[in-house]
Amino acid sequence: MTVQKFEFKTEVKELLNLMIHSLYSHKEIFLRELISNSSDAIDKARYESLTKSEIIDAAGPWKISIRRDRTAGTLIISDNGIGMTREEMIESLGTIAHSGTTDFLRALHEKDIKEKPELIGQFGVGFYSSFMVADKVTVVSRKAGTKDNKAVSWQSAADGSFAIEETEKDTVGTDVVLHLKEEEKKYLDEWELRTVIKKYSDYIEYPIVMEVEREREDEKEKGKKLKVTEEERINSGKAIWLREKSEVQEDEYKEFYKHISHDFGDPARTIHYKAEGTSEFIALLYVPSKAPLGMFYKDFKIGPALYVKKVQIMDHCEQLVPEYLRFVKGVVDSSDLPLNVSREILQNNRQVEIIKKNITKKVIDTLAEMKKNEYAGYVDFYKEFGRVLKEGIHYDMSKKEQIADLLLWTSSKTGPDTFTTLQDYVDGMPLAQEDIYYITARTYEEASNSPYLEAIREKNYEVLIMLDEIDDFIMGELFEYKGKKLRSVVRGDIDLDKEGESEKEKVKGEFEKLIDYMKEMLRDDVKDVRLSGRLKDSACCLVTEEGGLDPNMEKLLKAMGQAVPVTKRILEINASHPLLETMKGILEKEGRAPVLKEYSDLLYNQALLLEGSRPKDPTAFVKAVSKLMVDNATQKTA
Ligand code: ADP
Ligand code: MG
Repeated sequence: MTVQKFEFKTEVKELLNLMIHSLYSHKEIFLRELISNSSDAIDKARYESLTKSEIIDAAGPWKISIRRDRTAGTLIISDNGIGMTREEMIESLGTIAHSGTTDFLRALHEKDIKEKPELIGQFGVGFYSSFMVADKVTVVSRKAGTKDNKAVSWQSAADGSFAIEETEKDTVGTDVVLHLKEEEKKYLDEWELRTVIKKYSDYIEYPIVMEVEREREDEKEKGKKLKVTEEERINSGKAIWLREKSEVQEDEYKEFYKHISHDFGDPARTIHYKAEGTSEFIALLYVPSKAPLGMFYKDFKIGPALYVKKVQIMDHCEQLVPEYLRFVKGVVDSSDLPLNVSREILQNNRQVEIIKKNITKKVIDTLAEMKKNEYAGYVDFYKEFGRVLKEGIHYDMSKKEQIADLLLWTSSKTGPDTFTTLQDYVDGMPLAQEDIYYITARTYEEASNSPYLEAIREKNYEVLIMLDEIDDFIMGELFEYKGKKLRSVVRGDIDLDKEGESEKEKVKGEFEKLIDYMKEMLRDDVKDVRLSGRLKDSACCLVTEEGGLDPNMEKLLKAMGQAVPVTKRILEINASHPLLETMKGILEKEGRAPVLKEYSDLLYNQALLLEGSRPKDPTAFVKAVSKLMVDNATQKTA
């Protein structure tokens, strides 16, 4: 039999290095990871056995067994699950299959991983955690359903390579043999193992058995004790979601969450319920407190696990939750679906639709309840997942209102670190205020100093400050809240004083000539020039037409390489600003003086700067400003 050597992929080498040299705490999780792999392997075998009876015949009752060999110093974790072929072994135990790995490793370096063992497992690196306690690992596996005893062995000492060899194995399934490090020999101790298994793997559905030594009374000779070795089941194994809510301890819920989510922290909320009526199912769902690293990657696995009558059909069923609730983890166990459902069948299944609707409602209600009763916790949740939740405004018309109620915003009145809601905003609106105002910006400071807020602020109206790139788009989709229009302060005409129409007409008349002149001068750059209802201190600003593209959005789209149609915007001028008063005077006295053209250009460039854009021609702009400064200085010294 020949031994073949393989190099680990670079990222595996790096990972192993971290495992061995940097992680000192929580080493006991290796057992959880290996048991979890065995349990997954049995899930798969059981699923296949639904259609291929020879699989169960060969395997016997499903179980995971833990054996200890004190002489050899080895701990062996065995299962009679699906097993691996030679190729599967090379693939599964030689690479890290997930594309987010590089980012994961980077995160591991940046954060202090000694304090963050929860990162292990998030990217499916579970198996390699064996090397935290073993200096050599041997895996022997025989594929489920095979008739002869041909098997494959994989061995590595985490030294950059692994060896593959053909071998023999009497039973189907997988044995993982850990050659324990000297200082980790405590994992040969029955009580140590028992504690770790109870702590992390009690809910595993299949029996986890261990050979234990006990003293028993000799049946032949009364009073004489005999040492016997017997197999004992360690875990209680009752599927946690099938138990009554009142019988499940908080800690058990938490451990189960960690098992299915690979998250080391506690969930923010646990939702456990039984649905009856049009659809019968049990759901045990979790809202995590921390966003997993891969949440925005394409291959992020969405959805709770799907079970049909206690049999796992798939570990992530994306048809069960809308994408905007993709952070929800858990288990759904249905009594209505057939055991042989495939992904294709799930796609247009009425039962699945009903379950999805039901879960969506439950999660949204839970979030609303959390926001009401446990606000601080909700804010933490929101900081992690608000960005995802918002997508629901776009994707789920039927839930728009409810989702809108879950969103949190900073505003001109909250300061940068606290939030308000649309409801609170509306409740605080003065009688005269008709619309809800918002501004999008890159930072809170930029927004709160913005000239676009001047008049609104003077009225003491609140302005929502939105810092997420997609916010403007989301607001456009939401359109209104409780009958109040949502209006971006950079868009459309803003007219806060409904009275004083005659006064406004008068001012308009006075500025008509100047406006016409500026329109002509700036005709290549702006669509229109008009008097502003939103400015108080600044001389001018640029606004977008109602329904037009917000400049931040425009930049975002451009950055994404999208073709954005060139749209001219509107220059608004502040009639009460001395500069415009002066310009009006010059025009009246001197007619079309060259200085007016210069001023018009300068105003336009200022407006560009104020909205966060670059001047049209930075060099020309700087020259013009310098010239003004020189003129001013010469006047002063003359
Ligand atoms: P994950 O479990 O997240 O996929 P692991 O590193 O724990 O990541 O395991 C890697 C892969 O190795 C598994 O996906 C599976 O294909 C294979 N594997 C590990 N242990 C077993 C086992 N006991 N039986 C069958 N396959 C296994
Ligand atoms: Mg695993």
